[in-house]
Amino acid sequence: MSLVRSAAGLERMMACNITKRDGMTIFICGSELPQWEVCAECGDVADILCDYPVGDGLTCDRNLCADCAVEVAPNLHYCKPHFEMWKQFKESGGVRDVLQNVVPFSRLDRP
Ligand SMILES: [Zn+2]
Ligand SMILES: [Zn+2]
Repeated sequence: MSLVRSAAGLERMMACNITKRDGMTIFICGSELPQWEVCAECGDVADILCDYPVGDGLTCDRNLCADCAVEVAPNLHYCKPHFEMWKQFKESGGVRDVLQNVVPFSRLDRP
């Protein structure tokens, strides 16, 4: 799931609250305070989640800003460590091997 950055920009123009987080004074604007997250890589405002599948139907869900997320497909983002894993998997032929295991039904040898 990915959120749209422009929505966060609009929020910033609304009334702001001042709060402290990790010893830093920051301004939080708008009414949806619990949804305000910081990027896991650089601490910037995060509005993207890593979509890398980690099993059981779950995704990595690391918070990422637009600079730290890698868009691998429209609306599909991976964090940088997971992007490297995905790239290595692809380059090792993982995707091709899966496809080669699919044997067309008509080509099966029958007695
Ligand atoms: Zn970042
Ligand atoms: Zn990830």
